[in-house]
Order: sequence, then structure tokens, then C-alpha cells
Amino acid sequence: MAMKDISNDKSVQVLVTGLVQGVGFRPFVYRIANRFDLTGWVQNTNENVKIEVSGTALNISQFLISLRKEAPPAAVIEDISIHEIETKSFAEFIILDSHNFSDQITEISPDIAVCAECLQDMNKPGTRLNYAFVNCTNCGPRFTIIQDLPYDRGKTTMKSFSMCSDCQTEYETITDRRFHAQPTACAICGPEYELFKNKKRISTNIQEIIDCVSKCIESGGIVLLKGLGGMHLACDAFNESAIKRLRELKNREEKPFAVMFRDLESLKIHAKMDAKEEQSLVSWQRPIVLLEKKNAPNIPELASSLNAGLNLLGIMLPYMPLHYLFFRRLKTAAIVLTSGNFSSEPILTDNQAALDQFSSIVDLAVLHNREIYNRTDDSVVRIIAGTQRIFRRSRGYVPAPVRTELNTEGIVAFGAELTNCFCVGKGRKAFLSQHIGDLQGLETTLFYEKTIAQFIQLFRINPSLLAVDMHPSYISTKTGIHFGDLPVVQVQHHHAHIASCMAEHRLDEKVIGVALDGTGYGPDGNTWGSEFLVCDLNDFTRITHFEYLPMPGGDSASEEPWRMAVSYLYKVYGKDFLKLDLSLLKLIDSEKIALIIQMIDKKINCPLTSGAGRLFDAVASLLNLSQVASFQAEGPMRLEAILAQNCTESYRFVLGQTIQFDETIRGIVEDIRRKVEVSIISAKFHNTIILAIFETVNAIRMKENISNVVLSGGVFQNKYLLERTISLLEKNDFVVYSHAAVPTNDGGIALGQLAVASKRRELQCV
Ligand SMILES: [Zn+2]
Ligand SMILES: [Zn+2]
Repeated sequence: MAMKDISNDKSVQVLVTGLVQGVGFRPFVYRIANRFDLTGWVQNTNENVKIEVSGTALNISQFLISLRKEAPPAAVIEDISIHEIETKSFAEFIILDSHNFSDQITEISPDIAVCAECLQDMNKPGTRLNYAFVNCTNCGPRFTIIQDLPYDRGKTTMKSFSMCSDCQTEYETITDRRFHAQPTACAICGPEYELFKNKKRISTNIQEIIDCVSKCIESGGIVLLKGLGGMHLACDAFNESAIKRLRELKNREEKPFAVMFRDLESLKIHAKMDAKEEQSLVSWQRPIVLLEKKNAPNIPELASSLNAGLNLLGIMLPYMPLHYLFFRRLKTAAIVLTSGNFSSEPILTDNQAALDQFSSIVDLAVLHNREIYNRTDDSVVRIIAGTQRIFRRSRGYVPAPVRTELNTEGIVAFGAELTNCFCVGKGRKAFLSQHIGDLQGLETTLFYEKTIAQFIQLFRINPSLLAVDMHPSYISTKTGIHFGDLPVVQVQHHHAHIASCMAEHRLDEKVIGVALDGTGYGPDGNTWGSEFLVCDLNDFTRITHFEYLPMPGGDSASEEPWRMAVSYLYKVYGKDFLKLDLSLLKLIDSEKIALIIQMIDKKINCPLTSGAGRLFDAVASLLNLSQVASFQAEGPMRLEAILAQNCTESYRFVLGQTIQFDETIRGIVEDIRRKVEVSIISAKFHNTIILAIFETVNAIRMKENISNVVLSGGVFQNKYLLERTISLLEKNDFVVYSHAAVPTNDGGIALGQLAVASKRRELQCV
């Protein structure tokens, strides 16, 4: 404890673990040590930052307070351990060289949005005036440019630029903000932007580029922009015809586009935002934040085709210096900024490939000559129940590890098929990859394989155990099984979902798991998707699920929600449903419907499903919100978008061997007949699901005496559903765990696979 006698000199050794390297931590320690008249040193070592300081007890205790409180924004302090040591005398405080890197060093900073001081530097006369690659130890590219460890310039894509003497001096000056800033650069020595029209380079003058591009966007043009982790396509967010053209160009009929606003003031005009949402928007990770759209009169309307008529908008703020330069010149307050790729392919990173694919169809292309080594997409988050939930984990979050209580060493988990991320283990940390995408196209599969190899190399993984899904035909499963001659653990999809959430919260005990999603392979050969499990990390028992229904056409049923509506109607009413007054019966060709009935009768291509997503699809079709989906989960998203917030009614359902919604379907059909508003029907349906979850979980608690409930699966991206499920369960004395830092959708599966594999190894089951 700090002593009162301030003249009493002492020395302490401090070990700081966490993400404390490559984020300006040592210069920060240097500054606060000097502030409190301490002498000693700071050094990066294998697993931590090591500090020794001498001074008065009071000053040392103040130093320790500042160490926690004032740490640089991107630093993540996991633990600070303090030991008093024999009193030493040092001449001054210095930063010691770090020579002793070994394979243990694993943490790499994600990319950090440009900081306020660097933005000011862009306004000052000198070599950084309007220089769009400005950065410092507190900001700039990191993961996207890192090729290997330890993190220094020679192992980044900045190695091809040698520092000018001014940059070199800053880099070597301890008190400078650019001390050891590996990507530091200026207009004399650093990368530059290049403007292309067709394939011809027409300028490298930044003012000219800003001017040309701004004019192009304002007149309805589409511009390709090279960003931090990949290419973007940009156009005016207020220009309906530009957006229409952009959709045609990307083959992306309706899926919502993300929008970048100039600043908070202009976005407040168009979207509702609370304090938490604002905090996420301005965080250094600068994710896309899903916000509710405002319908205000007297203001210019954002193009309605932006978000397919949904009530949510994906919004972000500028994060690269170039974005700020554009908005200084642009008259429009918002631009569409969507990934530069064709639908279903990964975001492009390579200049030549981008020119080859896009130069003839965009009006201008702005590229730069700094190579992108690790591809990242913009991340997507949503605030639910006051907590930030990451839906797409990429730029700004990757490759920060998930810290677990498990021995993850050497485990490679291959993830699911859609929305894939994989995961590798080192020590007690799990490194979840950036969002890879849907493993169906060749390009995405190549990206997947290449990134697995990069992670293994980057984090010095020595693979010893592999974890895959149970689905035999997933590309991820096949990749895992053929990865090497190593033991393989197959993890059931929904068990992996629950284990992922457990790992995130460091749970290692028996829990009630509720996994609601679209599809996952079930060991009984059916398509699971609404699973109530009693499980731990090792194993699970399936207690109950939504009743199985035929899914006519298999996977194509999730693309055509009307098929599931027919499946439910036929089950509840028999052929009498054809006499009902429903829009889907008028919109869908009666021959097609007759064919579906035949398929169900004869059990042709009608796998059985318990997928919660399919029930949502069926209801979306009944309410005529989505008959043929033009993007993943369109039906459920439209149902959520329209629901009335203050309705407390619900429909009947039956808890038997399984959870049956026949009465729910009857209630909905009856409400449609009575012309009840769709917003009310949707709310009643959501309330029904929430009650079904609650009553099921309650029955399990009675029997098993477990009060910890873990929620996972893509269905819990639904704000209304998650918030009200949590609050109902908590009111009834359940302890509820849901995802925040790891996606609740299939992007989080790999972490669960890794956790299960780790536990089974510990129990010597593999
Ligand atoms: Zn900076
Ligand atoms: Zn320079």
C-alpha cells in the first residue's frame, strides 16, 4: 500500500499484459513516468510490457493510477501485476530495446481510425498538409498491413517506403507522437493516392483527386475507392438513380447499403441515436452501426432504395484521412460506401484486379500504392439491451483475441459454411478471423484457405487438433478434415453456438442453451435450428425443439419463404388452406403450390427442419412481407422492421414433446381475415416466440435445476426478440448470457468449435 511518508523512496516492477504493443503504450508509460518524476525503464517482452520505476511512494501510486486510467485508446489492459522490489537508482526513465521476441508474442493491434491530432496535422503547412496517409502511434493501419511479427516496419507493407529524415527523426524521438509509429509517413516519403479513369492514371495530386471525385459523386457518378482493408464503391446517398446503377453494377438487387455520414450532426437529422449508439459510432473501431431511420419532414430524403424499405440504416463515420478530405469538399452529407466486389465475392484488395473488374463500369477509381496484406470488411454492430453486439467482426476488431479460461493451444476451428469466420488457439487466447463470407464461391474459398495459412503463420500456431462442423458437405468441414493428419473433433452446429457464447463469457459448467437460427446439421439427419439444450462445453442433450416441418425444396425454401408458409398451412389446415383469403395464394402460381403439396405428400426433396428462421419466413410470407427473399434473412428482418412496440398480446402454442405452433398459424390467419394490422400481428408473433422460449426454459429449470441460460444463433440479432427475452428471463431469476464481442450468427461458430475441442482434449476424449 502507498505510504504516507513521501520522502520514502522505493522501486516497483510492473507487468502489463493485454494488447499493449503497437498501440503507443511505451511512449505513454514514458510520459507519465516523467510526469511523476520517476526513473527506470519500460520494455516490450515476450508476453507483456515490463516496467521498473523508482520514486516516492506517492508518485509511484499516482503513476499506477494513470497507467490504468490514461492508457492509449487502442490498448487493452488485461492485467497489471505490481511487485515491490529492492530499491534501485536510475539516472532517468528510458525505453529499452526489445530484443527478446519469441513465438510467444501474439497480439496485434487492429486498425485504428485516424486520431484528432493527425487530422489537425493535415491542416498545418508542411509535409502532412492534406496528406491522406497521416498516422501516429495512436492511429492508423495495423492488421491490414502486417505480414509477420514482431511488429516493425520491415514486416509490414510499408517496407517499400523508406522514411525521409524528418520522419526518421520523429520515429526515433521518444517524446514524439510518432515514436516507433511503424506506418509513419509524409508527402515526401510515404504512399500516395492515384486517380484512374478507365485504366488510365490521370492524377496523383491529392487536391485534384478530391476535386474530381467530389464533382463526380455530386453529379451522380460511382467511384471505386481503395480503403484500409479493401475496395469500396461510393456514390451520393441522396441520389436514387446513382444507387440504382450501383445495384445493377454489383448484381445486388435489394440488400441494404451502408452509408457514411460527414459527422454526427448530419446523421442525427436522418437517424435516431442514443448515447450508446453514439459511443459506438465515434469509437476508434468506427464500425457500421445499425440505427433506426428517422422520418423527418423538410429535410432532403436519403434515397429510399438504400435500405430496401427497412427501418434500419447501416451508418458509419469517416475513419480514414481521405474520408475527411472528401467531406471537406463534398456538398452532400452522406455517401454510400459499400464493399467493392460483386455479390458473394470477397472484397477486392488488389489494384490490378480492381481496375480489371471495375474500371469500365465505374466513373473513376481512386487507388493507392500501399499494399493491403490482410483483407478486412467494415464491421457491423448493433446496440441491443444497452450493449454493443458485433454482427460482422472485421476491421477495427480483428485480430484482437477472445480471452478464455481454456487451453486453446494449437487448435484450429474451421467455422460454418455461411458468414464464415475461423478461429485459431494460442495459450488461453482464441484468435477469431475476420469475416470471410459465404464459402460457396471459389474466390471466397481461396480467401478462406489463404487467411487460415496467414493466421497460422502470423500467430505461430502449431496445429495439433482440428475442429469442424458435423455437416459432411460444408466446404469448411472438408477443408478441416483434409487439413493434415491430425485428430478432428466434429461439433454439432447449435452446440457450437452455445459453446461460443459460453467461451465469450468464460462459462464452464452446465447451462440451458437456446440456439435459434436458420439451419444446422442435426445428428438425426434433419435440419436443426431451434434447439433447447442442456449442455456444457464437452457435450449436450437436446431437450426439445420447434416441431419438425417439411422444407420443400431444401435450401431453396430459405430463398422462397412462401414454400415454408405452404408447408405450415398444409400441416394446419390440410388442403383446405387453398380456400383461405391470403395474398400468397394469389401471388404464387397455383400449379407451383400444387407441386409443393405433392412434394410434401410424397416426401420428395423435403428434408425436415426445426429452423426458427423458417417459421419467421413462413409468417413473413403469410403477411406478404417477403415471398421470394432477395437477401439473407429478409423475411425475419421485414417482420422486425414493422412490428408495433407496445403490443402485449400473443398467440397460442403447445409445449408437447416438441414446441408446436399450429395454433399460432391459425391465430395469424384469423387476424389476417379480421384485417388486424400487420404491425400488431408481427408483434403478437414475436411475443409468442418469447413466451415459448420462456416457458420451455422454465420447464427445463424445474427438471434440471439450472438457472444459467445461454442465448445464441442468428435469430437473436433481432433487437425486440433479444431484449424482451432477456428481460422476461431475468425477471424470473434466470441468469442470461448473450453475445456481444463475438457474433451471435454463424460468424461466432468457430469459437464454439474451438472451446468444445479444447474441453474434450482436457477430458482426454480426443
Ligand atoms: Zn494519429
Ligand atoms: Zn517523411
